[in-house]
Amino acid sequence: MKNFIPVSQPVLSEAESRYVNDALKKGAISGFYGEYISKFEEGFANYCGCKYGVSTTSGTTALHLALLALSIEKGDEVLVATLTNMATFFAVLYQGARPIPIDIEGDTWNIDPSLLESKITSRTKAIIVVHLFGHPVDMEPVMEVARKHSLRVIEDCAEAHGATYNGKTVGGFGDIGCFSFYANKILTTGEGGMITTNDAAIAEKARSLKSLAFGLKEKFMHTDIGYNYRMTNIQAAIGCAQLEKIDSIIENKRTIARMYTERLKDVSSLQLPVEKSYARNVYWMYHVALKGKFSNKRAEIMQHLKECGIETREGFIPYNMQEFALSKGWVDRDECPIANDFAFRCFYLPSGPSLSSDDLEYVTTSLRSFLER
Ligand SMILES: *Cc1c(COP(=O)(O)O)cnc(C)c1O
Repeated sequence: MKNFIPVSQPVLSEAESRYVNDALKKGAISGFYGEYISKFEEGFANYCGCKYGVSTTSGTTALHLALLALSIEKGDEVLVATLTNMATFFAVLYQGARPIPIDIEGDTWNIDPSLLESKITSRTKAIIVVHLFGHPVDMEPVMEVARKHSLRVIEDCAEAHGATYNGKTVGGFGDIGCFSFYANKILTTGEGGMITTNDAAIAEKARSLKSLAFGLKEKFMHTDIGYNYRMTNIQAAIGCAQLEKIDSIIENKRTIARMYTERLKDVSSLQLPVEKSYARNVYWMYHVALKGKFSNKRAEIMQHLKECGIETREGFIPYNMQEFALSKGWVDRDECPIANDFAFRCFYLPSGPSLSSDDLEYVTTSLRSFLER
C-alpha cells in the first residue's frame, strides 16, 4: 500500500521529552511527588476558566470521581446523552445509579435539552451532558432545567478541550467538568484525565477520594472508601508541554475542519458537522453522516477508503442500543430514534492535528470518487 493516513496521531515535540526527562532525573515518577502535577492541574483549570483542577488516570475515572464527589449513588437516576463513549454511562453504573439515555439533536448531535424535563422523576439527581466531537452543548436550556429541578450538572468534555459556548470555555458551566487526555484527544498525556470545578468543597472531596482517602491527622485512618486514580508526574509533565501548544492544536483542528467542509459541502449524500452561532467547535474528529441512497453503505465506503490507505472509524453506538443494557432490560432499543438513525450512518475521517493538506485533499478526492460514481 503506497500510503497510510491514520485517523489521528498525537503531536509530541521537544518540550514533552525535556519535561519527562526532568521528572525522571528527579525520580519524581509517581502520582504523589513532583511539581508537574500541580502545575498541570492549575494550568489546565485556568485554561478552562475554572478555579480547581484535580487530575486522574483517565476520562473514565474523572467521570467516576465526579459522581463520587457529588454523592450520586444507588437508586439515583442520572440523565445522560445517549450518544457518547460508553465510559460516560459506565461511570454512572459503577455507582449503582441508573442512567437514563436522552436523545440527540439532529444537527449538533448533542443532547437535546428539550427532552430533559419529561424524563425527570423524584429520583433524578443529575444531568451529564457530552460536548460531542468538539461541539459545545446548548448549555443555557440545560442549566435552566437543572436550576428548576435542583439537579447537579456534569459536563463530559473529553472531546472538547477549549470549545466555547457563548464565548465561555466548557468545563465550568455545571458543577464539574470531566476531561480525558487519552492519546487521540485534543490534549494528551497518553492516558489521563481531569475534573474541573469552581467549588472548593467538591475539589477537596475529589482530591481525597482519588488518593485512597488518606486521613489528615493519622494517614492510615482513612476518611472514606478511597480510590487510586492518581495521574503520575510523568504524565503531568507531558500535559504541561501539551498545554503550551493547545491553542495551535485547536487552530489546526479548526483549519482541518474548514478544509474538509470546503471540499465536501456540495456532496449531496453527506451531512457535515455544524458550528452553531453560540459555539466555537474544536472539531475533535471530523464526523460525516451518509444521506439518501448512501445511508446504508457505510461499510462499503469505509472499505473503499481503507483500500486507498485511509483509516476511518465508525461513530459511537447509543446506550439504548448496547447489548449489555438491552439484555438486562435497562433500555428500550427505540427510545432515542434520532441517535439510532444517526449512529449507523456516521463515521469519521482522519483528523489528527498533523494531517497535511495534501493528505486531506487525497481523503476528500477518494471519498468523492466513491460517492459520485
Ligand atoms: C474518551 C472519552 C471518554 C473516556 O476517556 P478515557 O480517557 O478513554 O477513559 C469519556 N467520554 C467521552 C465523550 C470520550 O470521548
